Amino acid sequence: NFAERSEEQVSGAKVIAQALKTQDVEYIFGIVGIPVTEIAIAAQQLGIKYIGMRNEQAACYAASAIGYLTSRPGVCLVVSGPGLIHALGGMANANMNCWPLLVIGGSSERNQETMGAFQEFPQVEACRLYTKFSARPSSIEAIPFVIEKAVRSSIYGRPGACYVDIPADFVNLQVNVNSIKYMERCMSPPISMAETSAVCTAASVIRNAKQPLLIIGKGAAYAHAEESIKKLVEQYKLPFLPTPMGKGVVPDNHPYCVGAARSRALQFADVIVLFGARLNWILHFGLPPRYQPDVKFIQKPSFVHGHPDMELLSKWRSNRAMFLELFSKCGSLGQAHQHHLRNLLEMHISGPYARPIKIKNSEVDICAEELGNNVKPAVTLLGNIHAVTKQLLEELDKTPWQYPPESKWWKTLREKMKSNEAASKELASKKSLPMNYYTVFYHVQEQLPRDCFVVSEGANTMDIGRTVLQNYLPRHRLDAGTFGTMGVGLGFAIAAAVVAKDRSPGQWIICVEGDSAFGFSGMEVETICRYNLPIILLVVNNNGIYQGFDTDTWKEMLKFQDATAVVPPMCLLPNSHYEQVMTAFGGKGYFVQTPEELQKSLRQSLADTTKPSLINIMIEPQATRKAQDFHWLTRSNM
Ligand code: ADP
Ligand code: MG
Repeated sequence: NFAERSEEQVSGAKVIAQALKTQDVEYIFGIVGIPVTEIAIAAQQLGIKYIGMRNEQAACYAASAIGYLTSRPGVCLVVSGPGLIHALGGMANANMNCWPLLVIGGSSERNQETMGAFQEFPQVEACRLYTKFSARPSSIEAIPFVIEKAVRSSIYGRPGACYVDIPADFVNLQVNVNSIKYMERCMSPPISMAETSAVCTAASVIRNAKQPLLIIGKGAAYAHAEESIKKLVEQYKLPFLPTPMGKGVVPDNHPYCVGAARSRALQFADVIVLFGARLNWILHFGLPPRYQPDVKFIQKPSFVHGHPDMELLSKWRSNRAMFLELFSKCGSLGQAHQHHLRNLLEMHISGPYARPIKIKNSEVDICAEELGNNVKPAVTLLGNIHAVTKQLLEELDKTPWQYPPESKWWKTLREKMKSNEAASKELASKKSLPMNYYTVFYHVQEQLPRDCFVVSEGANTMDIGRTVLQNYLPRHRLDAGTFGTMGVGLGFAIAAAVVAKDRSPGQWIICVEGDSAFGFSGMEVETICRYNLPIILLVVNNNGIYQGFDTDTWKEMLKFQDATAVVPPMCLLPNSHYEQVMTAFGGKGYFVQTPEELQKSLRQSLADTTKPSLINIMIEPQATRKAQDFHWLTRSNM
């Protein structure tokens, strides 16, 4: 047999690279070192793009965004021990977001295991908690098999992170080429559809809704369901609410988008259809008081356990006069109780919607275990969102129907949107300096290219920014996500930039960062400049985490004492010139304090396609959100 007698040898590194290439891996993010450098070089030789980052955490965030944007996993390549441990943050984040990701970690040599080898660590075990699949191939011959399985596991079912461990001695080991069999490229996930009877029930629940609401999550974006969902919205004139990364599946400026009346829509909807969004903290668990309470809730309000006034409240809840009297007593209660009581009271005396209605949820998801979490749904549709939405459309099409555009529900929503938008606009028009968040975001929105990616993180920066900055395209918003992770922004922006360069050249990535959020991965600015990526970083700088101090207060504070004794934990150095991080590497930096400077620097940044920029925008250190209907909105991600 001629083939078996062939002398040609191949290294473990090359086998890994070829296995990745065969599985259509396009991008690797990582930091090289012992023992993975050869893998990166071999991958590049096969035409896989390699982006060297400055911290494994950011590399892993970047690789995970590739999975969300392209439906095939990006790879994060890291060294053993600490390298892998730094990547755990990115794996956890990907898994929480249900995004595909493949992490490849070098590990210590097999014959030194348990001896205290260089960077020895139980990596496969460590990754199990953060992944769907975590394994080490038993031999070089097994590498293509394990890599195919990892890629497949990352995209089939509910997407998530996978880990493949490569012992150092595999990398340079030479084996006979003919001993290696590469697995075929694994196919895209099979499309599953919902049961016909469930589709019929869902259609009838929707038809009978008095106050319907569609919630569009990032699962719908990942499923590429934009065409079918837009049709559902438009054909039946249904109000929809995108979650943060569900923004853009149907454009934010669509007349049926009720994002600007979010609280109102959630609070009074009687039928909610969830498309790829979990009823977790982002959607307030689907529970009262953010949603219609069912009667039981009023009888057993756990959060007011043992509070005497609440007993009174439930006893007398139909009595308006009693409510008003209780209202006047609010002042003497503790702050948290006061707010809960007020909200409850307001809900019950707020006119036509005062009757408790049991809401009917319909959930569409690919993950069966997700269905029914926190709230018992009226109907569950298990399957691929795009396919299931098409099933729903077919069913609804059978009988002519549309939700009446002149309904009271639409009127309520429109009025609320109008007043909320007016309140933000008023704040935005304030001329006082330093600027507030709204002024900054209105000016940014004015110049935002329609097809840009918006990446955003930070507490107030992300929360307020989301309400003003519009998305017109699906999968064009990346933010702190399900895990509420700070530090993702620069990695996500880098991933979006490399994808945009390959697939839609000319698109900008606008990365809107709080000053604190920027700090987590700030050195990735060097990565951005090294690859000259089309990224504009906006650092919305309030000198701190949530809030900071102005320079004068800062100086006063430090006059007599050691900083560690007096500086509040949320403070960062006032007036920091973050733009110099960008100029240090040859990009453009701007320090802006007025709306005019902001407008000008943005115009210049967008006009210059040859360089990335960073605009450091000084805002009022004590600036906050506009007054909220619910006090817990002031610190939630929503
Ligand atoms: P959001 O943060 O926007 O609310 P989540 O991450 O909570 O979104 O929810 C996304 C949901 O979408 C997950 O439950 C996931 O299982 C589901 N999902 C992901 N891809 C698909 C798909 N192709 N078809 C159906 N459901 C999907
Ligand atoms: Mg800040």
